[in-house]
Amino acid sequence: MVKKRIVTGDRPTGKLHIGHYFGSLKNRVKLQESGDYEQYILVADVQALTDNFNNPEKVRKNVREVVMDYLACGIDPKKTTIYIQSMIPETAELTVFYSNLVTIARLERNPTVKTEIAQKRELFGESVTYGFLGYPVSQAADITVMDGTLIPVGEDQLPLIEQCREIVRKFNSIYGEVLQEPQAVLSNEKRIKGLDGNEKMGKSLGNAIYLSDSAEEVNKKVMSAVTDPNRIKKDDPGNPDVCMVSYYHKLFSTEEECKKICEECRLGQRGCVACKKQLAQNINNILQPMREKRKYYEERPELIDEILKEGTEKARQTAKETMKKVKKAMMLDYFE
Ligand code: SF4
Repeated sequence: MVKKRIVTGDRPTGKLHIGHYFGSLKNRVKLQESGDYEQYILVADVQALTDNFNNPEKVRKNVREVVMDYLACGIDPKKTTIYIQSMIPETAELTVFYSNLVTIARLERNPTVKTEIAQKRELFGESVTYGFLGYPVSQAADITVMDGTLIPVGEDQLPLIEQCREIVRKFNSIYGEVLQEPQAVLSNEKRIKGLDGNEKMGKSLGNAIYLSDSAEEVNKKVMSAVTDPNRIKKDDPGNPDVCMVSYYHKLFSTEEECKKICEECRLGQRGCVACKKQLAQNINNILQPMREKRKYYEERPELIDEILKEGTEKARQTAKETMKKVKKAMMLDYFE
């Protein structure tokens, strides 16, 4: 039986944090271990350049960091293909072909792109680049050049998959049924809030715990987490529903622990410092095996290169096969 192919990836603009872990990485490991799918993960360096074109060193450096995070949290290169986007030139070629099938007005209406452009006002000012506006087109090429059929995404990414499906339908209606329409699979995991309660977790906000953080860094960060602001004294009754420590306990602690924490907090029988120490310990228990795995690869950078080289060669082969079909359909197959 032919397995459904999952295509997913990350922009290498920084180390991955626990928001990435709960938002996608954990799910990718689960899908990998199910054995039911063929999973491709692209390290999207070209996409990272759309808003980091003036900082190529940052993108270059983070390619290996992101791969080490993948390996640390359980992505197995024997079961999942990890590859570098820029080393698949067929994606760039397909992006050019697709650019005839999308209007500028449609890209400007894409809700995900609209939100992201608004967030990047500082970089773009009033005038966004062609590359950034068009990144959904290159993302459609990323997915379809690998013949991806299932795309795990968060709700905010759904418009990108819809745009990809539109491009595929248009391509097939003009050139014949060559491409498969991918399906979005909504990830159950929600977006994880930052330690300060901000809806978004990120480096610029200083509210993230990274998978590669040391135990000391985790302890320090957890101590800075926002708690119930109305709780002044240790025996004041607290409200765990407005406390980020309680929010994180739900991710890292057992159900039984969470229940006890909430009860004691409401009764004013629990100190915030002890509550934070317990959380930091639970986070560290989960991160410790990842740190050890990461260290192994940090000391052996040649293994990262090998993994990327092998994965990229495999992905390139898939891309070449797709492009052969695409070019034939578009009557661009002049010579063998
Ligand atoms: Fe938050 Fe725990 Fe303090 Fe309650 S006791 S406010 S859950 S840190």
